[in-house]
Amino acid sequence: MMETVKLKWGPDGLIPAIAQDVRTGQVLMQAYMNEEALHLTLETGTAWYWSRSRQCLWQKGGTSGHYQRVREVRTDCDGDSLLLLVEQEGVACHEGTYSCFTRRVDGSPRAMIGTAFWPIQPDETVPYDIGTILREVTAVLLDRRARPDPASYTSKLFSKGPDAYCKKIGEEATEVVLAVKNRDRENLAFEVADVWFHTLVALVDNGLGPQDVAEQLASRRGKRREKKEE
Ligand code: AMP
Ligand code: ZN
Ligand code: ZN
Ligand code: ZN
Repeated sequence: MMETVKLKWGPDGLIPAIAQDVRTGQVLMQAYMNEEALHLTLETGTAWYWSRSRQCLWQKGGTSGHYQRVREVRTDCDGDSLLLLVEQEGVACHEGTYSCFTRRVDGSPRAMIGTAFWPIQPDETVPYDIGTILREVTAVLLDRRARPDPASYTSKLFSKGPDAYCKKIGEEATEVVLAVKNRDRENLAFEVADVWFHTLVALVDNGLGPQDVAEQLASRRGKRREKKEE
């Protein structure tokens, strides 16, 4: 095995492994690995764990189809835990939620917005940075897509397919133009939010996310845009 860092396996030969969504940063699940599970994970590029209850190796998704494509495996400062950066197929939790972390330990209600699990607790006292809010909305979209909810507008958009959200993108873009024409600054932000939301739906439905747009914009840094037409 290509393992150059020293890992601290527990007395039971296990090490905790946390899986994180490589696109959104959302924490998905925690399980254990033994050396064989880590070996299989690195060899196959999909996550393998050791089940303490069943005392066997299991490939995440082996029965559910909810595989984890492992993009990177990291360990922490003292080598006693692992972090898997994954592309999650379907949902991570066998209870059907995108992330396993849906319960507050004090027993207060789940962190929910509508019926979808909201991964990061919105805190009104912390000013939003645009990266955080785009990641949060993306995590909710992934959840609504993975777990269709008849009461959710977003789930309906996904189930209706590209025609539905493409129509919305066109309409909302027109509303942006109207807000500019009417010099309606408040409405302009509102309508741009509508465009962003529906274009995020389009990205997520096509296996992309805001990160892919960020990469595009970053790749244009320092470059002048060519004048194409006038
Ligand atoms: P899967 O790996 O998704 O095919 O699920 C197979 C079995 O693995 C499930 O029935 C659970 O016992 C277990 N399992 C799957 N996902 C999780 C998880 N996120 N946390 C704990 N156990 C899980
Ligand atoms: Zn540690
Ligand atoms: Zn779970
Ligand atoms: Zn609108």
